Amino acid sequence: MFSKFTKRLVAPPPPAAPIEVFRDDITQEYHGIQHADLSPGSLRVIETLQNAGFQAYLVGGGIRDLLLDKHPKDFDVATNATPAQIEALFKRARAVGRRFQIVHVRMGPEIVEVTTFRGRSEDSHHQQTNAQGMLVRDNVFGTVEDDAVRRDFTMNALYYDPKTHHVIDFVGGYDDLEDHIIRIIGDPATRYREDPVRMLRAARFVGKLKLNLDPATAAPIRQLAGLLRDVSASRLFDEVLKLLQAGYGRATYHCLREYGLFGQLFPETETLLSRGDDPHYARLIDIALTNTDARLNAGKSVTPAFLYAAIYWPSVHQRWQEREAEGNPRAQALAIAGSETIDRNQAYVAIPKRFTQGIREIWELQAKLERRDGRRPDSTLSHPRFRAGYDFLLLREESGELPPGLGTWWTAYQVADDAKRRALIAEVREHPPEHTEDAASKPRRRRRPNARPRED
Ligand code: ATP
Ligand code: MG
Repeated sequence: MFSKFTKRLVAPPPPAAPIEVFRDDITQEYHGIQHADLSPGSLRVIETLQNAGFQAYLVGGGIRDLLLDKHPKDFDVATNATPAQIEALFKRARAVGRRFQIVHVRMGPEIVEVTTFRGRSEDSHHQQTNAQGMLVRDNVFGTVEDDAVRRDFTMNALYYDPKTHHVIDFVGGYDDLEDHIIRIIGDPATRYREDPVRMLRAARFVGKLKLNLDPATAAPIRQLAGLLRDVSASRLFDEVLKLLQAGYGRATYHCLREYGLFGQLFPETETLLSRGDDPHYARLIDIALTNTDARLNAGKSVTPAFLYAAIYWPSVHQRWQEREAEGNPRAQALAIAGSETIDRNQAYVAIPKRFTQGIREIWELQAKLERRDGRRPDSTLSHPRFRAGYDFLLLREESGELPPGLGTWWTAYQVADDAKRRALIAEVREHPPEHTEDAASKPRRRRRPNARPRED
């Protein structure tokens, strides 16, 4: 109801001037791409399409990365064959996607993504934008030139024809790459309104490729960052992983903050970081991202739970103190703080259920790790999330939030034999540290074995 009403009141932004295209063929002696650099599966797909009389090219991030001497993640194929024609040509082909139809073609071990050239926005009636100018449907087909101007950045709109070995450029992407410039195609504000995720992609490419955002491409981002609120919170979860958990998260994070995008994804965290009262929060997130990047670049695994535990920690830590001051026991105050923080932030970035439990456990271990009396350390050590909780404790110490000590104790406890463990526990009993439960807890009165249960 409400959206229908606003649609009539808010005029859509005026159409931007058509984007001019010119064709520039760059020959192999200049671009230097070799067939050995390309995936055999995508080359076979292109050959089959071309032999059937269609146009077909490699396009997108794969070509861009090769021109930057980086190892491409994947190669996409673009063609003038329709999804139905593609499916008819390949035995193992399957159309996927709603907003844009893509065909997945299986070639041996590879799955090659094949897309039909998309049409231009200004001459299509198969495209729909909402009141904010955001594209909600985009399935009109076009020529290769149309397809080029529908892409996001000039460097991502370079086509490679394996038959001629030419890189074909319609939007000046080749020169931009040589000049290390990330430039959006067309009018920046219009393109961000069509798809606000393009602003996140701009930050991602700055972090990943270490290129510079063209000033006109960067200019409207701060002002339009709020459009990310129109993107579904579950899509933003996927985007955040691509931004922060792909091996260059630290650089991307700083770029997101610089352009006011981080605050749209994580408003509570941004408020606490920019207030600057607790500089250890900023350090904690910085170190978490540095460690995540290092692990990924060393081929090790990472879990989104740890990353999210760090990003939301400033809020959790604040709430923990508040709930404790209200009289809740320390561990319970932390559990409440964790649940509240997740609940309050789901509307921005929706964390799937399968991760929220892990995030909570990492936080809740922070209270458990403080308790070092009796059998507690052994029970904490056998917690399935112990390792992540312990790493998180080290992170808090490294950030300066906690004085060093507890982490070192746990480092020693893990490798100690039983006698040494008892000695470590005794040491805490004799010299209880300040500010932790160890210090606060009074010795508990032992229940008599046959005591009657209380009746209240
Ligand atoms: P990466 O190497 O990180 O995968 P990429 O550029 O290949 O980077 P993809 O998400 O795989 O990114 O997208 C493939 C191509 O599709 C892009 O190179 C670009 O041409 C086009 N594209 C992707 N997302 C958008 C978008 N939001 N708007 C317009 N074009 C897009
Ligand atoms: Mg890609």
